[in-house]
Amino acid sequence: MRFADTIGNPEAITALRQMVDSRKIPHAMLISGPAGIGKMQLARAFTAYLNCSNRINGDSCGICPACRRIEACNDPDIHYIYPIHKKAKTHTLSTHYAEEWKKMLHDSPYMSLPHWNALLDAGNSRPMIYVDEADAIAAAAAMSTLTDDYKVFIIWLPERMNAEAANKLLKVLEEPYEDTIFVAVSNQPDLILPTILSRMRRIEMRPPDINTVEKALIARGVSIDSARQAAMTAQGSLLKAFEALGNGGETAEFNSSFQDTMRAAYARNAVAGKKFSETAAALGREKIIRMLEYFARMVRENFIANMRIGILNSMDSSQQQFAARFAPFINAANVEMLLEETDRASADIARNANARLVLFDYFLKLMIALHRGNPRR
Ligand SMILES: [Zn+2]
Repeated sequence: MRFADTIGNPEAITALRQMVDSRKIPHAMLISGPAGIGKMQLARAFTAYLNCSNRINGDSCGICPACRRIEACNDPDIHYIYPIHKKAKTHTLSTHYAEEWKKMLHDSPYMSLPHWNALLDAGNSRPMIYVDEADAIAAAAAMSTLTDDYKVFIIWLPERMNAEAANKLLKVLEEPYEDTIFVAVSNQPDLILPTILSRMRRIEMRPPDINTVEKALIARGVSIDSARQAAMTAQGSLLKAFEALGNGGETAEFNSSFQDTMRAAYARNAVAGKKFSETAAALGREKIIRMLEYFARMVRENFIANMRIGILNSMDSSQQQFAARFAPFINAANVEMLLEETDRASADIARNANARLVLFDYFLKLMIALHRGNPRR
């Protein structure tokens, strides 16, 4: 993981790079900002830069032994601490879930919490960092390093430590060892114990803007149209941007579903509506919610197109073609109802309601709303 692999936040990168270059590295730092913007990637890029034996042009080399160990997640001196869902009394440490964690860093580099819960098989429970972990950190910090490198503790979501664990960690931070560095990565720094916070150098990350995300996606081989769509959907969350792209073009799938469903609802085709509810229900909760988010965005885009108060350029050619005929049906008479019903369906799905029933009911509401907005009525 190199700085070059991260997206956006050049100021944060400069600050981290300067710490290493000037050899003024704080014993503890906190990288904070909203979820899904690449904080863990930056923490790992920093760690690689710190321990790289062949830094080049302000970045790690990516090929020296230290860089390779960090990339492969098997560096004996890099310790990852993260919230877990303990399955047994004997399994209270991050290291007991190391395989799941490696998979997480590989599959979900923008750190989706639902994905982590799924890997832990934790259902809807809230993973935590337990007090045993703080003891393990203290023990590992006291040991000498196994390589010549800095020993680094990367703590994901320190806000999920209970008070007992946090107080023990504080003791470690109060008596820092040389060549040992703590890098915490937090979505909600306001929930961290103030005494811990006060010992950490703060690095704030901000969501990258739409253009930055779009350019980064194009540089990664995404087509211009898809990159723009994903960047628009993401609103600064790289996690959402990559989810929108999906691995098989989720946006295209949602787009055809949106168009088919709207046509069927306008035609009052209840058979097609029933089929929609069954097919969509099979997508699973997370994906249904993303699909409904897409529907809501298309409703807004078509309303704006109809009112001619905006520009069409956030729609791709397929969406624009559809909008040319469809937009007149989204107007002041029904836009609120459409957005409310979409929101309601999404919230019901999030609450684990029967997806088929929710989606069929949603389809019936679409029928009513589209006819309410019929400009030829
Ligand atoms: Zn290197």
